[in-house]
Amino acid sequence: MEHVDIAIVGGGVVGSATAYYLRKHGFSGSIAIIEKDTTYQFGCTGRSLGGLRQQFSTPENIELSKFGLKLLRNLKQEFGPEADVSFHENGYLIMASAEGLPILEENHRIQLANGADNIILKGSDLAARFSWLMDDGVAGGCFGLSGEGWLDPYSLMTLLRKAAVATGVKIIPHELTTVNRSGDKITSVILSNGEALSCSSLVNAAGTAAGHVASLANIELPVGPRKRYVYLLDCPQASEALHGAPLTVEPTGIYFRPEGRNFLCGLSPEEHEEPAEMNWEVDYSWFEERIWPPLAERVPQFETIKVINAWVGQYDYNALDQNAIIGAHPEVTNFYFANGFSGHGLQQGPAAGNAIAELIVHGTYRTIDLARLGYDRVARDEPLFEKNVI
Ligand SMILES: Cc1cc2nc3c(=O)[nH]c(=O)nc-3n(C[C@H](O)[C@H](O)[C@H](O)COP(=O)(O)OP(=O)(O)OC[C@H]3O[C@@H](n4cnc5c(N)ncnc54)[C@H](O)[C@@H]3O)c2cc1C
Repeated sequence: MEHVDIAIVGGGVVGSATAYYLRKHGFSGSIAIIEKDTTYQFGCTGRSLGGLRQQFSTPENIELSKFGLKLLRNLKQEFGPEADVSFHENGYLIMASAEGLPILEENHRIQLANGADNIILKGSDLAARFSWLMDDGVAGGCFGLSGEGWLDPYSLMTLLRKAAVATGVKIIPHELTTVNRSGDKITSVILSNGEALSCSSLVNAAGTAAGHVASLANIELPVGPRKRYVYLLDCPQASEALHGAPLTVEPTGIYFRPEGRNFLCGLSPEEHEEPAEMNWEVDYSWFEERIWPPLAERVPQFETIKVINAWVGQYDYNALDQNAIIGAHPEVTNFYFANGFSGHGLQQGPAAGNAIAELIVHGTYRTIDLARLGYDRVARDEPLFEKNVI
């Protein structure tokens, strides 16, 4: 049986970052990424909106995203002069109604305490900065002055993967179908081509399939797919100011952002509205009925738009508390998780990969203390809620 020191299941942004940072932390043993779809077309990463923000309510989430920002700032030093992920530093604007304002302000205090560069805007200040916005029912908005925006997810994932491969990381283009465990140790995995691979450690970076992969080792992990729709809009009458908009989130949760000369938008459903079928079919009535009317009221220029494309992406959803689960399993200690990012894993992928690499190489976190995001809270059924889930 072939042996690999570290087997990583999943080659999206998280698995690629894990491999990349293992090498950066000096790990010289063998590393393999097991990836069933080397076109990466169905993974979360390629279907993500690419947003990066500091507007979270949990210090760990702010730190994880700041790590991603630092990587973007150093992109060319890390990956060479040609490296580019089209980072648009336009900020986020997250708005709240009167009812939601105290939470927005409390989150803002936590963000400032953790080094975020954002401000609360109200009334005429909001209208003055964003001329295209109707602020009826908006009590305030938190706007990122710097360090927030969006990037091209596929490019970031590809940079990380290629850099990892350049250091000898192997990509195995098969599905992991079986995990063999002897007591408290993962010993080997079996692939869809029938080959077995023994491993010293296994990293679960399987995105929406993370819960399934954990179950192969008889471990419960509350992570599975949640269907989301993203719509691409053409808006011929959009002003230049609107083309320069931040990633804007309405008090209802409807969001939009510019994409080239077009716009992307979406809305996560309430729990009772979650689509039951996990297929790749777009529901256009979700846009017509739930998104467009309030969106056009908020931004009157969106009254004349055309949906020119749309796609389904599946969130890697942590049903316990919509936060990442990062770290080793407390008993099966050579099984590591970096899962359940629930809509913020693109920006947190580099930091999550770095965190797993630190645990494997140094036995402890060195950059960000992520103990509170560990599996323990799942075992104890003690959620750590994030108030800003988009
Ligand atoms: C519509 C949408 C919008 C989003 N917007 C944002 C955003 O604005 N900002 C943000 O930060 N995040 C966003 N996200 C979330 C983010 O995309 C994900 O959290 C992140 O990409 C997760 O990366 P990953 O590497 O864990 O998963 P993935 O990219 O899904 O990679 C997992 C890989 O594992 C492989 N795999 C699974 N099971 C197996 C197996 N048994 N054997 C072999 N391979 C396997 C899959 O093929 C896949 O390639 C969004 C997600 C969606 C769907």
